[in-house]
Amino acid sequence: MKLVIIGGGHAAAQVATSLRQHKFDGDATLVTDEPVVPYQRPPLSKMYLSGDIGAERLPILREQAYEGANISLKLGVHANSIDRDTKTVSLACGSTLPYDKLILATGGHARRLTCKGADLAGIHYVRTMADTDAMRGEFDHAKRIVIIGGGYIGLEIAAVARKAGKAVTVLEATDRILGRVVAPEVSDFYTQLHAEEGVEIHTDKLVTSIEGTDRASAVRSADGDRYEADMVVVGIGLVPNTDLAASAHLDVLPQGIQVNAHCQTSDPDIYAVGDVAWFRHSFYGREMRIESVQNAVDQAKVAVEHMLGNDVSYDALPWFWSDQYGLKLQIAGLSQGYDTLVTRGNPAERSVAFFYLKDSKMIAADCIGRIAEFMNAKKLIASEVPVTEAQLLDERPFKEIAADLLG
Ligand SMILES: Cc1cc2nc3c(=O)[nH]c(=O)nc-3n(C[C@H](O)[C@H](O)[C@H](O)COP(=O)(O)OP(=O)(O)OC[C@H]3O[C@@H](n4cnc5c(N)ncnc54)[C@H](O)[C@@H]3O)c2cc1C
Repeated sequence: MKLVIIGGGHAAAQVATSLRQHKFDGDATLVTDEPVVPYQRPPLSKMYLSGDIGAERLPILREQAYEGANISLKLGVHANSIDRDTKTVSLACGSTLPYDKLILATGGHARRLTCKGADLAGIHYVRTMADTDAMRGEFDHAKRIVIIGGGYIGLEIAAVARKAGKAVTVLEATDRILGRVVAPEVSDFYTQLHAEEGVEIHTDKLVTSIEGTDRASAVRSADGDRYEADMVVVGIGLVPNTDLAASAHLDVLPQGIQVNAHCQTSDPDIYAVGDVAWFRHSFYGREMRIESVQNAVDQAKVAVEHMLGNDVSYDALPWFWSDQYGLKLQIAGLSQGYDTLVTRGNPAERSVAFFYLKDSKMIAADCIGRIAEFMNAKKLIASEVPVTEAQLLDERPFKEIAADLLG
């Protein structure tokens, strides 16, 4: 079998690992337009940005592991188009790769600002290692950093910048940070945490222009307020890289490449996995795209197994993490649609779990410094057992409470 994998992130690397585990004896080629082997993105806004780890710690697998799995690497090469009639992929370097099966793990790119001044120097995005390298070049000298976007990436960068002694301002367009993904109580926790650490967070600040002559020197919001900056970092979301799939006339929506439960696109010989895939999650009963390492890894596993003839479907429970000021947030499940929030622990002590319930069942949990709650919340969510607020607030260790609930 001839397999072509397009992508250089967690999903592509997991395809390689799974091929090795399944002793794949076909002929595989991995094509990525980044000049390096697939690497971990989470440290780009955390320990790699802070300098706590170097570039040598980022690769997910060493180059030899690809050789060991019989995978040829084409690094720094963009895949231009797919011809589904001849089953070939055309590469920017001029060569053409034939395939029997194709896996698209093309991820996404950072959403760009479009306002006046968006092209000025000194404005940074964080999606690739090259982005963080470019940012670090200016980071050491910058005294005032304005971050546009109060999502996880913006807040993680704020935490690193504060630790490095910068004056940090976060501008969020909506009425609270992390508004898309967490309850107001969790937004309040992070607002308070950043305030205590000295970050200024301003909500309801729609950015309308970046000012400066040759480089950004201030950010202006719709209400006329102006924030001076030596450097601007933008974290306003991700746009899935669907162009290649769309030009091959696969089913593509603005939200991502449509795939079924086996991660197959509308062409059964082409799979799409990771940040780029738009799918129906069987547990939550709705369509979604998930931007997380867990999702990229688990979908890649399903695609490889299915491609090799096993009848597997994707139904993994989503989980995610974020690190800010040495505090680990671990998130299990998806909280949208909850009707009750239960707070276990003490936000003031920076050790707290927020449980999201719907119809008396747990659907998600945000756990801050609470590993037992996170591990057991995953089991409670998957089991769909009924839970009450009183049970979740029982003072016994959470492991014991969960064991009783799970029977
Ligand atoms: C700064 C940052 C922090 C994060 N922190 C966390 C975290 O704490 N926890 C967590 O779970 N997740 C985190 N994430 C998200 C996580 O990194 C992504 O969900 C994950 O990387 C998705 O992997 P992927 O392989 O689907 O896509 P990507 O990692 O986006 O990889 C796609 C690759 O495909 C390449 N490509 C695209 N089109 C082509 C083409 N036509 N030809 C050749 N190559 C192409 C791209 O250049 C890229 O290398 C973070 C992401 C970022 C950017």
